Amino acid sequence: MSFSRRDFLGKAAGLSALALADPVSLFAQEYPGASKDLVDIAAKPVLDLSSLKNPVIIESIDLLKKGNQFFVRVRSKDGVEGISLDNNRARYLAPIFLERVAPFFIGKDARQLENLLWELYRWGSNYKLQGLAYWSPVAWLEFAILDLLGRVAGKSMGDLLGGVIRKRIPFYVASGRRDSTPEEEIVYLQGLIDETKAKAVKYRVGGRMSRNEDALPNRTKELIPLTRKVLGDDIALHADSNSSYDPPQAIEVGRMLEDIGAVYFEEPCPFDRLEDTKLVTDTLTIPVSGGEQEYSHWRFQWAIQNRAVDIVQPDLHYYGGMIRSIRVSRMAELRNMPTTVHISGGFGFIYMLHFASRTPDIGRYQEYKRNIQNYSDWFDPPLRIIDGEMTVPEGPGVGIVDTKQVLKGAELVKA
Ligand SMILES: [Mg+2]
Repeated sequence: MSFSRRDFLGKAAGLSALALADPVSLFAQEYPGASKDLVDIAAKPVLDLSSLKNPVIIESIDLLKKGNQFFVRVRSKDGVEGISLDNNRARYLAPIFLERVAPFFIGKDARQLENLLWELYRWGSNYKLQGLAYWSPVAWLEFAILDLLGRVAGKSMGDLLGGVIRKRIPFYVASGRRDSTPEEEIVYLQGLIDETKAKAVKYRVGGRMSRNEDALPNRTKELIPLTRKVLGDDIALHADSNSSYDPPQAIEVGRMLEDIGAVYFEEPCPFDRLEDTKLVTDTLTIPVSGGEQEYSHWRFQWAIQNRAVDIVQPDLHYYGGMIRSIRVSRMAELRNMPTTVHISGGFGFIYMLHFASRTPDIGRYQEYKRNIQNYSDWFDPPLRIIDGEMTVPEGPGVGIVDTKQVLKGAELVKA
């Protein structure tokens, strides 16, 4: 045959070795439009393995269920355990975790996590599954392995991921409602502020993936000026359209948000319409944010290089965990763009706190969903809200003190 099979296999073997050595920069040459500085900064190692001199061999990985909550428990050969919590999606994504993610890691050295994530993506053609349904289970495992490594190293997640630089995180409280009239929403927002003592709020505009339709007639254009008028000048306002608008409509709503001095306008256009989003970003002066649905490193790179948004928002679960999200934040930082991560799942804000503890530019406020009391006592010292800020968990790994107690009564989920 004219196309040499041997040549091809030789190249494939070379590709495999290269992939292990340098997972992210591998494809740089294939994307001549990619800025080299972005490619290089993303490719640098993320984990600080300096205090992990010996292999941490993964002996078992279990998925457990307690009530509605799912947990991953990773145990090393030396008997150290790390755990993580899912993002309320394991009830239907469990088979992907049990069949496509967990088995690959058995017998592997957890210190190789960064390369293993890349190899997992290729393993059994897992890349064909990619999207939130693949990367969420990867994140559950990554968080559990980071917890394990942190416990072995005696380092918090933030220290393991480069070093803690802040211990308190300013937050906004999120409304999440669209069923309210503007007047009802104002009362609701004021209640959230009173309850949490937040210095910032986020509310929803538009109709959610609604092709310009509002949730209620005129809700958005009445709500936006009313929030500033009633809540006052001292509160920081954020608005999220959840992919509601085409560019002309997004620009009109964005202008209203500029008039009230809002902090940012989130996901103005359908999330995968990057060029539409860029048009809105280019036109408005208010920062545009987005990225919670994104799962592609290359598309984030494109979005940063072309400034499709002003603030990037990978979701720590949907996007596959801390390491991938940190790579995005490094590229963003190089272009003076903050990374304000999106969170999902009840426990998701804990991972956000760790991410925010070590990331130089996180923007002004991180999301809070009013559930700190459900987990506060798992940590020592207990998590607290002080003056519009949340405290970052201390202690090794994710910081849960008594994982046995947390997992008490949990049942094993089988493939
Ligand atoms: Mg959003």
